[in-house]
Amino acid sequence: MSAPTTTTRLSAHTTLRLGGPATRLVTASDADAVVAAVGAADAAGEPVLVLGGGSNLVVADAGFDGTAVLLASRGVRTEPRPDGSVLVTVEAGEDWDAVVASTVERGLGGLECLSGIPGRTGATPVQNVGAYGVEIADLLVDVDLYDRRSGEVREHVPAAELGLGYRTSVLKGRAAAIVLRVRFALGADGLSAPIRYGELARTLDVAAGERVDPARARAAVLGLRRGKGMVLDPADHDTWSAGSFFTNPILPVADAPQVEG
Ligand SMILES: Cc1cc2nc3c(=O)[nH]c(=O)nc-3n(C[C@H](O)[C@H](O)[C@H](O)COP(=O)(O)OP(=O)(O)OC[C@H]3O[C@@H](n4cnc5c(N)ncnc54)[C@H](O)[C@@H]3O)c2cc1C
Repeated sequence: MSAPTTTTRLSAHTTLRLGGPATRLVTASDADAVVAAVGAADAAGEPVLVLGGGSNLVVADAGFDGTAVLLASRGVRTEPRPDGSVLVTVEAGEDWDAVVASTVERGLGGLECLSGIPGRTGATPVQNVGAYGVEIADLLVDVDLYDRRSGEVREHVPAAELGLGYRTSVLKGRAAAIVLRVRFALGADGLSAPIRYGELARTLDVAAGERVDPARARAAVLGLRRGKGMVLDPADHDTWSAGSFFTNPILPVADAPQVEG
């Protein structure tokens, strides 16, 4: 179901609290509604802005002259895979950190180092979200996409076809396809992904490459992020941001210092 919302100022939907009105703001509460809203705007020749959590967006005070589609689809499913791992299927509108928290609570390993990142799940493959030594590409199996050029839904598009690289993918900056659903393969042996990030390994007091209780890793990551003002707090203006404005330099040396992604 999709429904026009009453608030059209986009500042209510961005973490920077910036952005004037959209001509129309549609809240899409399932994948079909996303397809319907974007398809209708495309057919009418209207510009479309896909909005997740608005945590990686700067919207002008002038607003957006077109249809903004707010992704609010919900649903998380888990099923065992033949290799002993667990397939987690997540609708695009699910809050990312809530998804990470729920997998950690179930003892599933893999996503814990991506704790505390704001936004919705559908956006995570778009810039191959990453932090503390883990990125989405490490866990992603496939996605379901709405292809705006053909007007078709493409199911189970393999991660290998998304051109995932350092904070990039073929989806980024083009808006040609919308992620409707994301599938991850997570570990079911009760351990985190290998701890690769030096600062995190020191905080956990483990050697690089060791694996720990995912809940312990999540708590440590959240602590480190809070110390840097990188966990959004509605009451603390200093945490209102759109994340990192710069990517890390890639240095051609073996022991380059590690900095946050
Ligand atoms: C405090 C803070 C900390 C952050 N830390 C990190 C970090 O450690 N690592 C990191 O990688 N990022 C980080 N970010 C950036 C941001 O949280 C991520 O990029 C996040 O995935 C954006 O999700 P969103 O739902 O808010 O996307 P939005 O900001 O709503 O959208 C971002 C872009 O993606 C497009 N988009 C959104 N959803 C979809 C979809 N389903 N299909 C296709 N396109 C879509 C939008 O149209 C827009 O162009 C941080 C941001 C903040 C504010």
